[in-house]
Amino acid sequence: MEKNFKSGFVSIVGKPNVGKSTFLNKVLGEKISIISPKPQTTRQQVKGILTDDEKQIVFLDTPGFVVARYELHEKMLEYIKNSLTDSDVIVFITDAKKFPTDYDNQMCDWLQKFSTPKIAILNKIDLVTHEVVTDKLHKLSQYNFDTIIPISVLESENLDEIIAPITKYLPYSPPYYHPDEISDLPMRFFAQEIIREQIFLNFREEIPYASTVVVEIYKDLPNKAMIAANIWLESKSQKPILIGKNGMMIKKIRIAAEKEIHKIIKKRVKLDLWIKIKPNWRKKKNALKEFGY
Ligand code: GDP
Ligand code: MG
Repeated sequence: MEKNFKSGFVSIVGKPNVGKSTFLNKVLGEKISIISPKPQTTRQQVKGILTDDEKQIVFLDTPGFVVARYELHEKMLEYIKNSLTDSDVIVFITDAKKFPTDYDNQMCDWLQKFSTPKIAILNKIDLVTHEVVTDKLHKLSQYNFDTIIPISVLESENLDEIIAPITKYLPYSPPYYHPDEISDLPMRFFAQEIIREQIFLNFREEIPYASTVVVEIYKDLPNKAMIAANIWLESKSQKPILIGKNGMMIKKIRIAAEKEIHKIIKKRVKLDLWIKIKPNWRKKKNALKEFGY
């Protein structure tokens, strides 16, 4: 490797729905982090790795900074703190239309304490006027961000406007991961996220937030993958909703998830889904541990 090679960890923070996953997926060109129109679908930290001739950026996609109403949310806060402490650059993403929300003010105040280089991205500028962009940029400049970038991640063809400033702040270092790796997460976790995404896409409020997915078996055979996963719900009454009339809904989720997993691994996928009940799993610490939160 060249001795002027740069490498480091970059934490992405911001309220649910501001476009963190969209940004990561676009930069990495692979579906590694989960996008869904509903907020808060990224509960775990997902790493994506971008490597070229001059740099390696390891992205940490942190879950939202949510009021600690459930134990789950306290765990999220812990994740955020840990990933920020270990990172070389912090990227704060916000929504140009909604900024500054209470969350944004709280987060920006909190971020000022970190001496890590910080980049603010004012995203979704396609949704607002030029005047609004100017006003929001002015508001953002009152915090101690090193760089502020107005952009539409969705419409931008080339995200170098963001990648170049990040690279500027990275330390000189050999790469942490083999250049072929896009993510160091096992396929088991991707499968889990893809199933969860399908639940989010197919149901309204209650079911998505009351469910969690755990992949119990992932057999990677030469010609196919055999996967078995449990979908945990909070109460018995939710089970018939998830199953649907004559099993229609669960079948729809299974087939859609098989298709998405197939797109990534390019092998036949046989997925088995089992529905289980654990009353109030979100509030129970032990249950959270078991689920990997
Ligand atoms: P996350 O919760 O921060 O990871 O947000 P997502 O990446 O899942 O994006 C939430 C929603 O915002 C999705 O429907 C995206 O398509 C949309 N979105 C992301 N970036 C932009 C943008 O630049 N412009 C517009 N109009 N929508 C965007
Ligand atoms: Mg996300």
